[in-house]
Formats: sequence, structure tokens, C-alpha cells
Amino acid sequence: MECIFCKIANKEIFSEIIAEDEAFVVFKDIKPKAPVHLLFIPKTHLGPVNTLRLKDTELVGRLILKAKEVAQSSGISEDGYRLIFNIGRDAGMEVEHLHLHLLAGKPLKLVN
Ligand code: AMP
Ligand code: ZN
Repeated sequence: MECIFCKIANKEIFSEIIAEDEAFVVFKDIKPKAPVHLLFIPKTHLGPVNTLRLKDTELVGRLILKAKEVAQSSGISEDGYRLIFNIGRDAGMEVEHLHLHLLAGKPLKLVN
């Protein structure tokens, strides 16, 4: 499978993993767009939001809760943070494995 985030989840390529459980991997974005820029991915390959089905509901809900937990445990929850799913070309989506961005560490401007 030529999916870069599957390779990160399988440890076939290096990434700065900051948390992991049976279902998800959390790692630092290689090109951070804020002082804190994390990516949350399911270990099993899922496509982007526009490919999701009802059967994926629980995993996607848990992905969001994972982001909340990591935000709380890393002390950024109080100042605030932003969660983003990019979908398609106009959003600049590059990777076709479902991923949730967490941005924090400074007051964030809404992009475009
Ligand atoms: P998106 O534009 O929503 O598809 O986001 C993909 C993100 O993955 C971008 O912010 C990239 O900087 C990030 N990225 C790509 N390759 C890697 C990698 N090997 N390790 C960490 N982050 C990566
Ligand atoms: Zn994948």
C-alpha cells in the first residue's frame, strides 16, 4: 500500500509520534503551521471525509475525542486549539488517509 500515513502507522517510515493507542497514532506535522501542529490518524486506512460512511461514525467520533484528550493532557486545552479536516483540492488536501489536524500555541487566524 503506497499510503504515507499507513507507513507512519506501521512504523515503516519515521515520524515524531507523540501518542498511540490500539486505534490511533498522533504525530507532529513535518511542516508545522502553528507552534503546535499535530496529526491524528486511524491505524487502519480510511479515506478522506468525502468517502466516509455510516459504519465509520464511531471511529471518526473517537478520533475527535482523541484530539480532545491530547489537547487536555498537553495543556493547550485552556488557551484553545483548532481541529481541521481538509477535503479536496481547494482545501489543499495532500494525503488521502483520514487525518485530523490540531493547531495551537498562538492566536490562530481563520485562513481564507
Ligand atoms: P492535508 O493537506 O490535510 O492532506 O495534510 C497533510 C499534512 O501531512 C501536511 O500538513 C503535511 O505537512 C503533513 N505530512 C506529510 N508527510 C508527512 C510526514 N512524513 N510526517 C509528518 N507530517 C507529514
Ligand atoms: Zn493509509
